[in-house]
Amino acid sequence: MTAIIDTHAHIDELEDLSGALSRASSAGVSDIVAVSVDLASMEKLVAIASQYTAPKIHVALGVHPGKVDPSVAKQAFDFMRAHIKIACAIGETGLDYWYKWVRKDEEQRRKQKDSFEFHLGLAKEFDLPIVIHSRGAWADCLEMAKASGVKRALFHWYSGPVDVLDGVLEAGFYVSTGPSVAYSPESRRAMTHAPLERILVETDTPVTYRDGEIPFKSEPRDVIRSWKALAELKNLDEQTTLGQLNKNAKEFFRI
Ligand SMILES: [Zn+2]
Repeated sequence: MTAIIDTHAHIDELEDLSGALSRASSAGVSDIVAVSVDLASMEKLVAIASQYTAPKIHVALGVHPGKVDPSVAKQAFDFMRAHIKIACAIGETGLDYWYKWVRKDEEQRRKQKDSFEFHLGLAKEFDLPIVIHSRGAWADCLEMAKASGVKRALFHWYSGPVDVLDGVLEAGFYVSTGPSVAYSPESRRAMTHAPLERILVETDTPVTYRDGEIPFKSEPRDVIRSWKALAELKNLDEQTTLGQLNKNAKEFFRI
């Protein structure tokens, strides 16, 4: 029987949550790290985690860089502090410079950095791992994570340059990949370069991926695709790969 952990899923965004969780459980998903993106999703996930037992749901509390809104930041940050005891991690947080308007808007980047700084501080204070979204902002994320002194940082869905990846690995941090490792050149380059001992697998549910040419909307059971595609990419035995991936996830999140 397979037992696998989806280390990054937005399960509150699933249309058929009960169905997706029971399909995940039947497929062998033992645990899900449910990441939040704003106050509303944190509230939903706290409720969901107490409702479902299989798979086991671990909540990560945070505000996504794409959802940073200074007018509600205090409320969100207060919620995080008030629920810190149930959090398995801080996130999803980080920086996103993917869009041109963000790269041009210094004020927007400042807001993202202020929010990320708060998350890093909380992770450090409570010795929690932090889940970082770093799209287009890989070097800045690494610099801030290192400067903060956090011990456990995960660069989720890492598809950035190899030189920054070297810095991530040197700092003792982790990277993760989803089903796109089957076909995305950026994901494949990064996952070829990173040692298996520093890789976690995820889905980023409900992101849409491709199976060959056919698009599909992901749910947590698709973490099996991430695992098998990674094993194939690295030319490793599937079971050995899975054993190491589970060890990594359990050590990183202490679950
Ligand atoms: Zn995500």
